[in-house]
Amino acid sequence: MNSSPTWLHETFEHTGSAFGLRVRAKLDEVQSPFQKIEIYDSTDWGKVMLIDGAMMVTTRDNFFYHEMMSHAPLFTHANPEHVVIIGGGDCGTLREVLKHPGVKTAVQCDIDEQVTVMARKHFPELCESNDDPRATVMFDDGIAYMKNAQPSSIDVVIVDSTDPVGPAEGLFNRAFYEDCLRALKPGGLLVQQSESPLALMHLILDMRAAMRDAGFQSFRLLPFPQPCYPTGYWSCLIAAKEARDLTRFREADAAAKPFATEYYTAAVHRGALALPPFVERALAE
Ligand code: SAM
Repeated sequence: MNSSPTWLHETFEHTGSAFGLRVRAKLDEVQSPFQKIEIYDSTDWGKVMLIDGAMMVTTRDNFFYHEMMSHAPLFTHANPEHVVIIGGGDCGTLREVLKHPGVKTAVQCDIDEQVTVMARKHFPELCESNDDPRATVMFDDGIAYMKNAQPSSIDVVIVDSTDPVGPAEGLFNRAFYEDCLRALKPGGLLVQQSESPLALMHLILDMRAAMRDAGFQSFRLLPFPQPCYPTGYWSCLIAAKEARDLTRFREADAAAKPFATEYYTAAVHRGALALPPFVERALAE
């Protein structure tokens, strides 16, 4: 692509909408055994990573997602020491998880090493914690990882995957959630990126039903802005191994957090728990 700016559009068939970024050039591309990964240089949003044509990460707005997918569940858990991230190959979620001093181990299991190769090259700031002695960055199918995980060994499972198609499809069903439940310790939490509550509420309801069928007892949806994703209104779904009030979290710890964030605060977390009526109504169905 020449250097005069042009536009990169991602169209979302299921929402009848699209999102565009002005870009200068395509910087990189690789076809892995699993997916096609592309990197663009944008005029105003920094670098952009796409996987199979879907925008995954931009320099400018990835913090919304990485911070809500990590700090919200970790401050909801009483004492998260052992965390497993399924997917997360851009390493942004891993970086946030490792900001918690109480975390002793953080395993990131992504099926596609090329995503992390491209992240290290084009988003080095997201990979800055990869060499933390507590971190294990590995490459395998998350379905297999969870099937083989030691029972009662994990405090928080974070499923930071692509949409439920292709290699990620098997991360959104009862069998996978049963494996997650078995691997979680008492008090354990599962959190999964749950797409747009504005356009894909049926998927969220299906996820919650499959988690419930797998034996999870309590659930909470946390919506948050994510400009480069379909509709710009995204969410994560937290599920608890035992029945508990997921509107309660370690608010004082979150307010006194010893690390900087761009979006997550105790107040933002509290705000995300105040579901708007259209979401509350859909979840009550
Ligand atoms: N924030 C993005 C979103 O919400 O769509 C996700 C970013 S992250 C790059 C998504 C990762 O999920 C990719 O790196 C992909 O390789 C990984 N993935 C997809 N299916 C997987 C599986 N079965 N096991 C492990 N990782 C998987």
